[in-house]
Amino acid sequence: MNSSLEMPFSSAEMLDQNFVNHKPRLSFDGGTFDAWQDWRKRLLPELRELLGPFPNGASPLSPRVVSTEAFDMFTLHRVIYHSQPNVPIPAYLLIPKNVTEKTPAVLCIHGHVPGGKESVVFGDGELGAPYGRKLAEQGVITLCPDNAGMGERAHPSGGCDFLWRRLNYLGHDLTGYRVYDLMRGIDYLRSLAEVDETRIGIAGLSGGCWLGIVHAALDDRIQAAVLSGYFTTFAQTSWFGHCICHHPKAIGELCEMPDIAGLIAPRPIFVEWGTQDVSRPVQPAFEMAQKIYRAADAEDDIRLHEFDAGHLFSGERSLPWLVQTLSRQ
Ligand SMILES: [Zn+2]
Repeated sequence: MNSSLEMPFSSAEMLDQNFVNHKPRLSFDGGTFDAWQDWRKRLLPELRELLGPFPNGASPLSPRVVSTEAFDMFTLHRVIYHSQPNVPIPAYLLIPKNVTEKTPAVLCIHGHVPGGKESVVFGDGELGAPYGRKLAEQGVITLCPDNAGMGERAHPSGGCDFLWRRLNYLGHDLTGYRVYDLMRGIDYLRSLAEVDETRIGIAGLSGGCWLGIVHAALDDRIQAAVLSGYFTTFAQTSWFGHCICHHPKAIGELCEMPDIAGLIAPRPIFVEWGTQDVSRPVQPAFEMAQKIYRAADAEDDIRLHEFDAGHLFSGERSLPWLVQTLSRQ
């Protein structure tokens, strides 16, 4: 507030006034199965358009194994595959010991941390359970890639911000760019002889939760998802800050984050939230998504585990749930 004129000059402050009555155009507000089907048919293509453009047709993955290391309960391969001809993706592939038949697999999406995939496999507990390793110890094949701009894919000039600027200049969206890489990760998993391609799930914490929500919404090959620590609304996060990589252009004109999660229905999802993680509140997002699942006749397929901790991946209930869900006949 300018004290001499007693009027605000900050545009951010003006926009707060627009925000009060703002309602995203395609937020779900029905209650019946038909309303859900109709809404899904309208939102899904618009979301895909907003996050694109995506490449036309998949290019060869050209995968290779860089190194292999034996651990007690799994074998860890460092692999590289290509999302696009000029986009190589480094990843860890964990194959449980004694795999003899087609086995469920989980794409483990790392959180918004500079080290990328390291935390998912070699995490020391600061971010909670290293789910890429824990799932492999429970008999599931896991693929843990670096997201664009992080881990081995970081650039000396910066992570998300630098990448966002270049993609924005070229008319691309960073979330869409990362999600396309994740879709190619599913292609890679499905190419492996050990993987049961009908039993593929995802798990993600924080920024990996956000990417997981979008990925599962757009990719119906994903049978189940654990979404931890960023199941929230844009209104409670993006509006106030958080990284620019969580803000596709005009997303709030189209829908809210739980609407995107609702596109996953009727496929099962398990949501996790640490109750001390107050800058990423799970409500009302969970109730909004639950309403969509209810309309889709899938109310039992959305679950929530709240636990007394901060911003971390618990895994206490979600990981056994995921293993069981993917193992179901
Ligand atoms: Zn970011």
